Amino acid sequence: MSTLGIYIQVPFCQTRCTYCNFHTGVVSADRFAPYATAVCHEIHEHRALYMAAGIDLLEESSRPVVDTVYIGGGTPSLLDPVHLDSIIASIRETFVCQFREITLEADPETITIEKASAWAASGINRVSFGVQSFVDTELVAAGRMHRRADIYRAVPILREAGISNISFDLIAGLPHQTRESWARSLAELSALEPRHVSVYLLEVDEGSRLGREVLAGGKRYSAGALPSDDEMASFYEAAGKLLGDAGYHHYEISNWAKPGSESAHNLKYWRREPYLGFGAGAHSFSGLQRWANAHDAAAYARSINADRRLSIETLETVSPGQALDEELFLGLRQLDGINLKKIEAAYGADLQGKISSLQSAGLVEREGDVIKLAPGKISISNEVFVQLLA
Ligand code: SF4
Repeated sequence: MSTLGIYIQVPFCQTRCTYCNFHTGVVSADRFAPYATAVCHEIHEHRALYMAAGIDLLEESSRPVVDTVYIGGGTPSLLDPVHLDSIIASIRETFVCQFREITLEADPETITIEKASAWAASGINRVSFGVQSFVDTELVAAGRMHRRADIYRAVPILREAGISNISFDLIAGLPHQTRESWARSLAELSALEPRHVSVYLLEVDEGSRLGREVLAGGKRYSAGALPSDDEMASFYEAAGKLLGDAGYHHYEISNWAKPGSESAHNLKYWRREPYLGFGAGAHSFSGLQRWANAHDAAAYARSINADRRLSIETLETVSPGQALDEELFLGLRQLDGINLKKIEAAYGADLQGKISSLQSAGLVEREGDVIKLAPGKISISNEVFVQLLA
Protein backbone atom coordinates (compact mmCIF):
# COMPACT_ATOMS: atom_id res chain seq x y z
CA MET A 1 0.00 0.00 0.00
CA SER A 2 1.53 3.31 -1.02
CA THR A 3 1.09 6.27 1.29
CA LEU A 4 0.92 10.02 0.80
CA GLY A 5 1.68 12.94 3.09
CA ILE A 6 -0.29 16.17 2.96
CA TYR A 7 1.18 19.53 3.91
CA ILE A 8 -1.00 22.58 4.54
CA GLN A 9 0.69 25.97 4.45
CA VAL A 10 -0.75 28.77 6.62
CA PRO A 11 1.47 31.79 5.90
CA PHE A 12 0.21 34.15 8.63
CA CYS A 13 1.90 35.36 11.80
CA GLN A 14 1.10 37.85 14.57
CA THR A 15 4.40 39.62 14.11
CA ARG A 16 7.60 39.11 12.17
CA CYS A 17 10.46 37.52 14.15
CA THR A 18 13.76 39.26 13.43
CA TYR A 19 15.47 36.09 12.16
CA CYS A 20 12.55 34.86 10.01
CA ASN A 21 13.31 34.18 6.36
CA PHE A 22 10.01 32.45 5.54
CA HIS A 23 7.28 33.79 3.25
CA THR A 24 4.78 34.80 5.91
CA GLY A 25 2.74 37.91 6.45
CA VAL A 26 1.17 39.79 9.34
CA VAL A 27 -2.40 40.31 8.16
CA SER A 28 -5.77 41.12 9.66
CA ALA A 29 -7.66 38.10 11.06
CA ASP A 30 -10.50 38.64 8.59
CA ARG A 31 -8.19 37.24 5.90
CA PHE A 32 -8.06 33.82 7.61
CA ALA A 33 -11.55 32.57 6.66
CA PRO A 34 -11.28 33.18 2.86
CA TYR A 35 -7.81 31.62 2.93
CA ALA A 36 -9.08 28.48 4.69
CA THR A 37 -11.96 28.29 2.20
CA ALA A 38 -9.48 28.46 -0.68
CA VAL A 39 -7.38 25.65 0.84
CA CYS A 40 -10.52 23.49 1.13
CA HIS A 41 -11.37 24.18 -2.54
CA GLU A 42 -7.79 23.39 -3.57
CA ILE A 43 -7.95 20.06 -1.74
CA HIS A 44 -11.36 19.08 -3.14
CA GLU A 45 -10.52 20.12 -6.69
CA HIS A 46 -6.79 19.44 -6.81
CA ARG A 47 -6.99 17.08 -9.78
CA ALA A 48 -8.65 19.62 -12.07
CA LEU A 49 -6.49 22.48 -10.74
CA TYR A 50 -3.30 20.47 -11.30
CA MET A 51 -4.35 19.41 -14.78
CA ALA A 52 -5.00 23.03 -15.75
CA ALA A 53 -1.60 24.03 -14.31
CA GLY A 54 0.25 21.35 -16.33
CA ILE A 55 0.94 19.05 -13.38
CA ASP A 56 0.94 15.40 -14.28
CA LEU A 57 -0.62 13.61 -11.31
CA LEU A 58 -0.28 9.99 -12.32
CA GLU A 59 -3.08 7.63 -11.34
CA GLU A 60 -0.82 5.43 -9.24
CA SER A 61 0.56 8.40 -7.33
CA SER A 62 -2.87 9.87 -6.75
CA ARG A 63 -4.67 6.96 -5.09
CA PRO A 64 -2.49 6.20 -2.12
CA VAL A 65 -3.61 6.29 1.49
CA VAL A 66 -3.03 9.59 3.27
CA ASP A 67 -1.39 8.71 6.58
CA THR A 68 0.23 11.98 7.63
CA VAL A 69 -0.86 15.61 7.60
CA TYR A 70 1.36 18.51 8.62
CA ILE A 71 -0.19 21.96 9.10
CA GLY A 72 2.70 24.43 9.13
CA GLY A 73 3.47 28.03 8.52
CA GLY A 74 3.59 30.72 9.60
CA THR A 75 1.55 30.24 12.73
CA PRO A 76 -1.39 27.97 11.86
CA SER A 77 -2.50 27.90 15.51
CA LEU A 78 -3.74 31.47 14.89
CA LEU A 79 -6.59 30.14 12.75
CA ASP A 80 -9.99 29.57 14.26
CA PRO A 81 -10.20 25.81 15.06
CA VAL A 82 -13.30 25.68 12.86
CA HIS A 83 -11.10 26.53 9.86
CA LEU A 84 -8.56 23.84 10.74
CA ASP A 85 -11.39 21.36 11.19
CA SER A 86 -12.83 22.18 7.75
CA ILE A 87 -9.39 21.71 6.15
CA ILE A 88 -8.95 18.29 7.80
CA ALA A 89 -12.54 17.37 6.83
CA SER A 90 -11.76 18.30 3.21
CA ILE A 91 -8.79 15.92 3.26
CA ARG A 92 -11.00 13.12 4.64
CA GLU A 93 -13.64 13.82 1.96
CA THR A 94 -11.12 13.82 -0.91
CA PHE A 95 -8.59 11.10 -0.13
CA VAL A 96 -8.54 7.60 1.31
CA CYS A 97 -7.27 8.36 4.81
CA GLN A 98 -5.79 6.27 7.59
CA PHE A 99 -4.23 9.01 9.69
CA ARG A 100 -1.40 8.06 11.97
CA GLU A 101 -0.09 11.59 12.50
CA ILE A 102 -1.73 15.01 12.13
CA THR A 103 0.70 17.71 13.25
CA LEU A 104 -0.12 21.34 13.93
CA GLU A 105 2.63 23.92 14.33
CA ALA A 106 1.71 26.15 17.25
CA ASP A 107 3.24 29.09 19.05
CA PRO A 108 2.95 28.86 22.84
CA GLU A 109 1.07 32.14 23.36
CA THR A 110 -1.72 31.11 20.96
CA ILE A 111 -2.75 28.02 22.93
CA THR A 112 -5.97 28.02 24.95
CA ILE A 113 -7.98 25.21 26.56
CA GLU A 114 -10.78 25.72 24.01
CA LYS A 115 -8.44 25.58 21.03
CA ALA A 116 -6.54 22.53 22.28
CA SER A 117 -9.69 20.51 22.84
CA ALA A 118 -11.07 21.53 19.42
CA TRP A 119 -7.77 20.49 17.78
CA ALA A 120 -7.91 17.10 19.48
CA ALA A 121 -11.55 16.66 18.38
CA SER A 122 -10.48 17.35 14.77
CA GLY A 123 -7.92 14.55 14.96
CA ILE A 124 -4.78 16.64 15.54
CA ASN A 125 -2.58 14.33 17.60
CA ARG A 126 0.81 16.07 17.46
CA VAL A 127 1.82 19.66 18.14
CA SER A 128 5.13 21.10 17.01
CA PHE A 129 5.86 23.91 19.35
CA GLY A 130 7.90 26.98 18.38
CA VAL A 131 9.69 27.28 21.73
CA GLN A 132 13.05 28.54 20.36
CA SER A 133 14.43 29.44 23.83
CA PHE A 134 13.43 29.41 27.51
CA VAL A 135 15.23 32.71 28.13
CA ASP A 136 13.08 35.85 27.91
CA THR A 137 15.97 38.17 26.94
CA GLU A 138 16.59 36.00 23.88
CA LEU A 139 12.88 35.74 23.02
CA VAL A 140 12.45 39.52 23.26
CA ALA A 141 15.53 40.22 21.12
CA ALA A 142 14.32 37.75 18.48
CA GLY A 143 10.93 39.48 18.28
CA ARG A 144 9.04 36.42 19.52
CA MET A 145 5.53 36.97 20.93
CA HIS A 146 5.78 34.36 23.69
CA ARG A 147 7.75 34.28 26.92
CA ARG A 148 9.08 31.39 28.99
CA ALA A 149 5.92 31.39 31.16
CA ASP A 150 3.75 30.78 28.08
CA ILE A 151 5.55 27.49 27.41
CA TYR A 152 4.82 26.27 30.94
CA ARG A 153 1.19 27.37 30.61
CA ALA A 154 0.66 25.71 27.22
CA VAL A 155 2.21 22.26 27.69
CA PRO A 156 -0.25 21.04 30.38
CA ILE A 157 -3.17 22.41 28.35
CA LEU A 158 -2.15 20.27 25.38
CA ARG A 159 -1.59 17.19 27.52
CA GLU A 160 -4.94 17.60 29.27
CA ALA A 161 -6.61 17.87 25.87
CA GLY A 162 -5.09 14.49 24.99
CA ILE A 163 -2.29 15.78 22.73
CA SER A 164 0.73 14.21 24.36
CA ASN A 165 2.87 13.91 21.24
CA ILE A 166 4.63 17.27 21.53
CA SER A 167 7.71 18.44 19.68
CA PHE A 168 9.79 21.44 20.74
CA ASP A 169 11.86 23.58 18.37
CA LEU A 170 14.95 25.32 19.72
CA ILE A 171 17.24 27.73 17.86
CA ALA A 172 20.98 27.69 18.52
CA GLY A 173 22.60 31.04 17.83
CA LEU A 174 19.97 33.59 18.90
CA PRO A 175 21.25 37.03 19.92
CA HIS A 176 22.38 37.13 23.60
CA GLN A 177 22.60 33.33 23.77
CA THR A 178 25.54 32.09 25.86
CA ARG A 179 26.78 28.65 26.84
CA GLU A 180 25.02 29.11 30.21
CA SER A 181 21.71 30.30 28.78
CA TRP A 182 21.74 27.52 26.17
CA ALA A 183 22.38 24.94 28.90
CA ARG A 184 19.43 26.43 30.82
CA SER A 185 17.12 26.13 27.78
CA LEU A 186 18.21 22.53 27.22
CA ALA A 187 17.69 21.61 30.87
CA GLU A 188 14.22 23.16 30.96
CA LEU A 189 13.27 21.50 27.70
CA SER A 190 14.42 18.11 28.93
CA ALA A 191 12.49 18.50 32.21
CA LEU A 192 9.25 19.05 30.24
CA GLU A 193 9.85 15.74 28.43
CA PRO A 194 8.62 16.46 24.90
CA ARG A 195 8.64 13.34 22.74
CA HIS A 196 10.48 15.06 19.93
CA VAL A 197 13.00 17.90 19.66
CA SER A 198 14.26 19.90 16.67
CA VAL A 199 17.38 22.04 17.04
CA TYR A 200 18.04 24.52 14.25
CA LEU A 201 21.11 26.69 13.78
CA LEU A 202 20.27 30.36 13.25
CA GLU A 203 20.51 31.22 9.56
CA VAL A 204 22.10 34.54 8.68
CA ASP A 205 21.04 35.57 5.18
CA GLU A 206 19.40 38.34 3.19
CA GLY A 207 15.96 36.86 3.84
CA SER A 208 15.61 38.19 7.40
CA ARG A 209 15.90 41.61 9.04
CA LEU A 210 18.50 40.27 11.46
CA GLY A 211 20.45 38.58 8.66
CA ARG A 212 20.56 41.74 6.56
CA GLU A 213 21.69 43.76 9.57
CA VAL A 214 24.47 41.28 10.38
CA LEU A 215 25.64 41.20 6.76
CA ALA A 216 25.67 45.01 6.66
CA GLY A 217 27.72 45.12 9.89
CA GLY A 218 24.94 46.95 11.78
CA LYS A 219 23.78 46.68 15.39
CA ARG A 220 19.98 46.73 15.13
CA TYR A 221 17.99 43.65 16.25
CA SER A 222 20.85 42.82 18.63
CA ALA A 223 22.97 41.90 15.61
CA GLY A 224 26.09 42.66 17.65
CA ALA A 225 25.10 40.08 20.30
CA LEU A 226 25.14 36.98 18.09
CA PRO A 227 27.18 34.02 19.33
CA SER A 228 30.16 33.09 17.16
CA ASP A 229 30.06 30.19 14.69
CA ASP A 230 32.22 28.15 17.08
CA GLU A 231 29.82 28.82 19.94
CA MET A 232 26.87 27.82 17.75
CA ALA A 233 28.61 24.58 16.85
CA SER A 234 29.28 23.91 20.53
CA PHE A 235 25.59 24.61 21.34
CA TYR A 236 24.59 22.00 18.77
CA GLU A 237 27.02 19.49 20.22
CA ALA A 238 25.81 20.20 23.77
CA ALA A 239 22.22 19.61 22.61
CA GLY A 240 23.19 16.27 21.06
CA LYS A 241 24.95 15.17 24.24
CA LEU A 242 22.13 16.18 26.58
CA LEU A 243 19.38 14.75 24.38
CA GLY A 244 21.28 11.50 23.87
CA ASP A 245 21.75 11.15 27.64
CA ALA A 246 18.02 11.84 28.12
CA GLY A 247 17.06 8.92 25.84
CA TYR A 248 16.41 10.76 22.57
CA HIS A 249 17.44 9.11 19.32
CA HIS A 250 19.26 11.46 16.90
CA TYR A 251 17.62 10.40 13.64
CA GLU A 252 18.09 13.43 11.37
CA ILE A 253 20.59 16.28 11.38
CA SER A 254 18.22 18.64 13.22
CA ASN A 255 15.89 16.13 14.87
CA TRP A 256 15.82 13.92 17.96
CA ALA A 257 12.99 11.66 19.13
CA LYS A 258 12.07 9.29 21.91
CA PRO A 259 11.93 5.79 20.33
CA GLY A 260 8.90 5.54 18.04
CA SER A 261 8.19 9.29 18.08
CA GLU A 262 10.12 10.26 14.95
CA SER A 263 8.07 12.58 12.71
CA ALA A 264 6.34 10.23 10.26
CA HIS A 265 5.51 13.15 7.98
CA ASN A 266 8.96 14.70 7.83
CA LEU A 267 10.56 11.29 7.23
CA LYS A 268 8.72 11.28 3.88
CA TYR A 269 10.74 14.32 2.75
CA TRP A 270 14.07 12.67 3.50
CA ARG A 271 12.96 9.34 2.00
CA ARG A 272 11.67 10.97 -1.22
CA GLU A 273 8.14 9.72 -0.63
CA PRO A 274 5.28 11.65 -2.26
CA TYR A 275 3.46 14.52 -0.59
CA LEU A 276 0.99 17.13 -1.77
CA GLY A 277 1.16 20.67 -0.40
CA PHE A 278 -1.92 22.91 -0.33
CA GLY A 279 -1.97 26.64 0.32
CA ALA A 280 0.08 29.63 -0.84
CA GLY A 281 3.74 28.73 -1.32
CA ALA A 282 3.20 25.03 -0.50
CA HIS A 283 5.58 22.55 -2.15
CA SER A 284 4.63 19.14 -3.56
CA PHE A 285 6.41 16.06 -4.85
CA SER A 286 4.57 13.39 -6.82
CA GLY A 287 7.56 11.07 -7.22
CA LEU A 288 8.18 12.42 -10.72
CA GLN A 289 7.55 16.15 -10.49
CA ARG A 290 8.21 18.84 -7.91
CA TRP A 291 6.17 22.02 -7.87
CA ALA A 292 5.42 24.99 -5.65
CA ASN A 293 2.27 27.09 -5.43
CA ALA A 294 2.70 30.85 -5.84
CA HIS A 295 3.48 32.64 -2.58
CA ASP A 296 1.07 35.57 -2.49
CA ALA A 297 -1.60 34.46 0.00
CA ALA A 298 -4.17 37.10 -0.98
CA ALA A 299 -3.80 36.33 -4.70
CA TYR A 300 -3.97 32.60 -3.95
CA ALA A 301 -7.26 32.95 -2.06
CA ARG A 302 -8.75 35.27 -4.70
CA SER A 303 -7.87 33.17 -7.70
CA ILE A 304 -8.99 29.88 -6.15
CA ASN A 305 -12.20 31.23 -4.59
CA ALA A 306 -13.30 33.37 -7.55
CA ASP A 307 -11.84 31.62 -10.61
CA ARG A 308 -10.89 28.13 -9.40
CA ARG A 309 -7.41 28.78 -10.74
CA LEU A 310 -4.14 27.73 -9.09
CA SER A 311 -0.96 29.72 -9.75
CA ILE A 312 2.18 27.61 -9.81
CA GLU A 313 5.54 29.31 -9.19
CA THR A 314 7.83 26.44 -10.12
CA LEU A 315 7.24 23.08 -11.78
CA GLU A 316 9.96 20.65 -12.78
CA THR A 317 10.19 17.05 -13.77
CA VAL A 318 12.94 15.43 -11.72
CA SER A 319 15.57 13.91 -14.02
CA PRO A 320 17.25 10.60 -13.05
CA GLY A 321 20.45 12.55 -12.25
CA GLN A 322 18.58 14.95 -9.95
CA ALA A 323 16.76 12.04 -8.33
CA LEU A 324 20.11 10.39 -7.57
CA ASP A 325 21.48 13.62 -6.04
CA GLU A 326 18.34 13.90 -3.91
CA GLU A 327 18.72 10.29 -2.72
CA LEU A 328 22.22 11.13 -1.56
CA PHE A 329 21.80 14.48 0.15
CA LEU A 330 18.31 13.85 1.56
CA GLY A 331 19.23 10.30 2.58
CA LEU A 332 22.43 11.37 4.32
CA ARG A 333 20.48 13.86 6.45
CA GLN A 334 19.22 10.75 8.26
CA LEU A 335 21.72 9.54 10.81
CA ASP A 336 21.05 5.91 9.87
CA GLY A 337 22.61 6.76 6.50
CA ILE A 338 22.00 5.36 3.02
CA ASN A 339 22.45 1.95 1.45
CA LEU A 340 24.98 2.51 -1.33
CA LYS A 341 24.38 -0.80 -3.05
CA LYS A 342 20.62 -0.26 -3.28
CA ILE A 343 21.03 3.26 -4.65
CA GLU A 344 23.64 2.18 -7.19
CA ALA A 345 21.35 -0.63 -8.36
CA ALA A 346 18.29 1.64 -8.57
CA TYR A 347 20.09 4.32 -10.61
CA GLY A 348 22.66 2.24 -12.48
CA ALA A 349 25.34 4.46 -10.95
CA ASP A 350 28.87 3.81 -9.72
CA LEU A 351 29.43 5.95 -6.62
CA GLN A 352 32.43 4.08 -5.19
CA GLY A 353 35.00 6.71 -6.24
CA LYS A 354 33.00 9.63 -4.89
CA ILE A 355 32.27 7.91 -1.59
CA SER A 356 35.91 6.82 -1.19
CA SER A 357 37.15 10.39 -1.55
CA LEU A 358 34.59 11.65 1.01
CA GLN A 359 35.67 8.80 3.28
CA SER A 360 39.36 9.70 2.92
CA ALA A 361 38.50 13.32 3.77
CA GLY A 362 36.83 12.05 6.96
CA LEU A 363 33.42 13.41 5.92
CA VAL A 364 31.50 10.12 5.80
CA GLU A 365 31.84 6.70 7.38
CA ARG A 366 31.21 3.34 5.77
CA GLU A 367 29.99 0.11 7.38
CA GLY A 368 29.51 -2.46 4.62
CA ASP A 369 27.07 -0.89 2.17
CA VAL A 370 25.81 1.73 4.64
CA ILE A 371 27.21 5.24 4.33
CA LYS A 372 26.69 7.81 7.09
CA LEU A 373 27.85 11.33 7.83
CA ALA A 374 30.92 11.15 10.08
CA PRO A 375 29.74 12.06 13.61
CA GLY A 376 32.06 15.10 13.87
CA LYS A 377 30.83 16.47 10.51
CA ILE A 378 27.10 16.55 11.20
CA SER A 379 27.12 20.22 12.22
CA ILE A 380 28.88 21.11 8.93
CA SER A 381 26.75 18.81 6.81
CA ASN A 382 26.17 21.51 4.14
CA GLU A 383 29.89 21.44 3.31
CA VAL A 384 29.74 17.66 3.00
CA PHE A 385 26.74 17.93 0.67
CA VAL A 386 28.53 20.49 -1.54
CA GLN A 387 31.42 18.06 -2.00
CA LEU A 388 29.07 15.14 -2.48
CA LEU A 389 27.24 16.83 -5.33
CA ALA A 390 30.36 18.34 -6.95
S1 SF4 B 1 6.51 32.68 14.05
FE1 SF4 B 1 7.84 31.50 12.66
S2 SF4 B 1 7.05 31.89 10.60
FE2 SF4 B 1 6.20 33.48 11.96
S3 SF4 B 1 7.58 35.23 11.81
FE3 SF4 B 1 8.26 34.00 13.55
S4 SF4 B 1 9.80 32.58 12.71
FE4 SF4 B 1 8.66 33.43 10.97
